[in-house]
Amino acid sequence: YNSQVLIHKPLTHVKGVKHIIAISSGKGGVGKSSTAVNLAAALSVQGAKVGILDADIYGPSIPTMLSMADADLTSLDGKLMEPVKSFGLVTNSIGYLSKGNDAMIWRGPMASKALIQLLQETNWPDLDYLILDMPPGTGDIQITLGQQIELSGAIIITTPQDIALLDVKKGVMMFNEVKVPLLGIIENMSWHTCESCGHESHPFGIDGAKKIAEEFKLPLLANIPLDIVLREDLDAGCPTTIARPNHRITEIFTNLAARV
Ligand code: ADP
Repeated sequence: YNSQVLIHKPLTHVKGVKHIIAISSGKGGVGKSSTAVNLAAALSVQGAKVGILDADIYGPSIPTMLSMADADLTSLDGKLMEPVKSFGLVTNSIGYLSKGNDAMIWRGPMASKALIQLLQETNWPDLDYLILDMPPGTGDIQITLGQQIELSGAIIITTPQDIALLDVKKGVMMFNEVKVPLLGIIENMSWHTCESCGHESHPFGIDGAKKIAEEFKLPLLANIPLDIVLREDLDAGCPTTIARPNHRITEIFTNLAARV
């Protein structure tokens, strides 16, 4: 990543928000948003006040995952945006603003400025956690966000695949550089259990994240299986942690929430 873009500006603090936690990934499609929304919901089920800021300009999927894709942003005072409420969570997303694909062609400085504005100009209620679903990667936008937002910590999501793990290393180095504490690594798509015969397979490899976590002395916070239910629930607009209180996926996220 390009450390040349490091700048020194005061950190953006959001009044009334105790912890902003960044959920990041080195590359897209590893399950960052799925993890962000299920973790947020698990924290909320445990009684915490939780918000999500969907900053994934390349694929703002949180509105769909919470049945809010058609929501329009409103303002009570003509200045601040009211967050969209769903399942006890409050959210704002670049997706509520763009509705189409125009956000995807933003240049870096414009994107990070817009994301920080989204954070600052939302009328967040008092929150224990604001989960920040970061854009994937370790480019200028991510560095700027990491540097300008007062983050309590960051979590990196990866699959066990070698090519994803290389990007995890870049992510660890980036957060170290911008002095954001890393809470740990989550491995998604760790294994798959065949629904008919119960056979366990590892389509993306075994223990990749465990090795990286050991190398950087970081906690491996969770292993999440590849599970059709997780995908179906999000496509249907209700995270598994809310839709199925007794499912094994919910149990994994409940344990994860207790570690955050
Ligand atoms: P990212 O935010 O990293 O781009 P997403 O969370 O959008 O990734 O996930 C990409 C796709 O994979 C989505 O369709 C999601 O439902 C699916 N998915 C993610 N994790 C799992 C999993 N553990 N089991 C099944 N499907 C998953």
